[in-house]
Amino acid sequence: MSELQQIFDTVNIGLVVMDRQLRVTQWNRWMYQHSGIAAEAIVGSSIFDHFPQLNTPGFQKNCKAVLAFGNFSFFSQKLHRYLFPFKPVGSFGAKFEQMQQSCTMGPLRGDDNAINAIFIVVQDVTELATYEQKMTEMSIKDGLTGIFNRRHFESRLAAECERHQRYGRELSLLMIDIDFFKAINDGYGHQCGDHVLKSVSAALASGIRTSDNLARYGGEEFCCLLPETGLTSAAALAELLRKRVEGATLSHESDEIKVTISLGVSELAADDTPHRLLKRADEALYRAKKAGRNRVELQEGVNPQVPEFESAPA
Ligand code: GH3
Ligand code: MG
Ligand code: MG
Repeated sequence: MSELQQIFDTVNIGLVVMDRQLRVTQWNRWMYQHSGIAAEAIVGSSIFDHFPQLNTPGFQKNCKAVLAFGNFSFFSQKLHRYLFPFKPVGSFGAKFEQMQQSCTMGPLRGDDNAINAIFIVVQDVTELATYEQKMTEMSIKDGLTGIFNRRHFESRLAAECERHQRYGRELSLLMIDIDFFKAINDGYGHQCGDHVLKSVSAALASGIRTSDNLARYGGEEFCCLLPETGLTSAAALAELLRKRVEGATLSHESDEIKVTISLGVSELAADDTPHRLLKRADEALYRAKKAGRNRVELQEGVNPQVPEFESAPA
């Protein structure tokens, strides 16, 4: 076996060579190990005989560009996830059903400079993709409750305000604060306080149609963005959430705890800003606190009558 052949079969990447008819001419050991297909079984046959899912117009086009113009093609994991459907190796791949791959395809020229073959290099990037996914999640989620964090919420708020204003659509905001939360920490301990935070956020998330729009805004404060929802429906949902939390009994170890929330509701106006929308909800929340807590208040200048609602509108 030549020295190059020995390297070919021991490198920790997949190496494939195909002729102009896309018949496999070389298949390294790495490809065998991950596909279960031995070189003897695949050499001489079309790559599509063994991997029919590669037979797409996109892949064909890339192969043609390599053969006709000597182009290089890159199949990034971000865009394509993988070319060859292999099982991920090791525990870090638990989040992915398939090994995540970064692949490069390019021409191989003969002595006369004519392109007579194509090579594909396959790199396993599952570990990197797993870390990337974890990092993304950590940067947008709140560690304690698992719902979105304030930073993510604020970027969503800015984007949704802009989108709803552009199309003249309704958008409302709920600002939610747990009542007398400090007393829970003081009376039952910080761990119990944490448990209450998790339980309340889970109750809120289950009360809205999509938890995409719910975030932990601060210590015991939450925000909920309601796209395509006007103030009246938003107020009805707020009332529904208030009742849901009021009606729940939160158990922690041997303690049975009851909590309530206060809510402020605001609605996007034509010439509004995200800051002003938040401020009006916050002011309404402040009024709800002053008026005795465990209640919903709407932004100033609006009839504070809160209608009953059977199911969540957002
Ligand atoms: P109010 O009805 O006026 O909202 O009273 P409150 O006691 O809920 O409000 P206050 O702002 O006085 O207290 C909020 C408390 O929330 C204080 C803080 O220690 C606690 N807190 C903030 N973040 C966390 C957390 O992550 N875990 C726990 N256990 N407590 C937290
Ligand atoms: Mg509070
Ligand atoms: Mg607070």
